[in-house]
Amino acid sequence: MFYIGQEVVCINNKGFRYPTSLKQGGKYIIQGIQKTCHAIIVNVGIKRTRGSGINCATCNRQVTTDEFHWFNSNRFAPIESIPASHEIAVKKLIEESQTILN
Ligand SMILES: [Zn+2]
Repeated sequence: MFYIGQEVVCINNKGFRYPTSLKQGGKYIIQGIQKTCHAIIVNVGIKRTRGSGINCATCNRQVTTDEFHWFNSNRFAPIESIPASHEIAVKKLIEESQTILN
């Protein structure tokens, strides 16, 4: 399950190349989530350059009319981030090893 503010990677950009610029392997931040008739769709901050809305890929019902592209959430996977505590531990280890070397 995705949440707003989460960092994700695009794992499937089929049908969304230029000019949409959804890049396979590209990193994005989830900026909106909606459950529609047939999918969970996400907004990753890419604005539409044409069209008056987004339609459901399954039943063609219009699901949004705002200025953003909304993609099926299955096009993305979460990026695991290193917990802050781990980062602090590594920093401390580096500091300690530098003290020994000096
Ligand atoms: Zn539908």
